[in-house]
Amino acid sequence: MNTFIPDGEPIGARLRAVQQRIAQAEQRFGRIPGAVTLLAVSKGWPVSALHAARAAGQTLFGESYLQEALPKIGALHNQGIEWHFIGPLQSNKTKQIAQHFSWVHGLDRESIARRFSAQRSALLPPLNICLQINAGDEAQKQGIDVRDLAALERLAESVRELPHIKLRGLMTIPAPRQTFDEQRRLFSVVREVFERLNQNGWGLDTLSMGMSNDMEAAIAEGATLVRIGSAIFDG
Ligand SMILES: *Cc1c(COP(=O)(O)O)cnc(C)c1O
Repeated sequence: MNTFIPDGEPIGARLRAVQQRIAQAEQRFGRIPGAVTLLAVSKGWPVSALHAARAAGQTLFGESYLQEALPKIGALHNQGIEWHFIGPLQSNKTKQIAQHFSWVHGLDRESIARRFSAQRSALLPPLNICLQINAGDEAQKQGIDVRDLAALERLAESVRELPHIKLRGLMTIPAPRQTFDEQRRLFSVVREVFERLNQNGWGLDTLSMGMSNDMEAAIAEGATLVRIGSAIFDG
């Protein structure tokens, strides 16, 4: 549970409180002010909640389930929203994701990358891609093992060579951890791989990590985008 905002606060107030948490963490951990972007994760929340967040200035929204997302995208069209797909990827869903979203955060196999490349319209900007990293959770099936740098670079290579998609960075979803230090340790492993890739010339600019309960640890370890749902919407 979020301890910063009383239950029942309007979404605009909760959004500002989250922005404040981000700004405070940036300052506390020596990040450049504004270095961390807020993605509002609206999965499971109705269109009215998205309207409220949009009215409060939020423009980046993340959704996890295509069938739920499509009507929301339709209801909020022409409002300057950038849609991020953050859910598990199935090959029978790639076409509509490529049509309706600007970003995909959970790519972990080449076959899906090829589908996105083939299905993304040349009239749209390239689909932005983050590769999903498994930071060492045995129970997690999704994501490339953080210890397998060779596999990661092979996938990065194929994404780089494909048209209509653009490799932007890495994302990770660690299982919940009890303490700040445990949260931070997992994020630091992903950060090291991110820095390794950039030392090898990849030029990645996005490290997508941190949710409502671990965003400070993620910001401490270099997150450039935090994906926040319940702290904004679960009033
Ligand atoms: C639901 C979800 C989030 C947001 O989680 P909260 O704990 O509600 O902030 C972030 N990332 C992914 C991939 C999610 O599925």
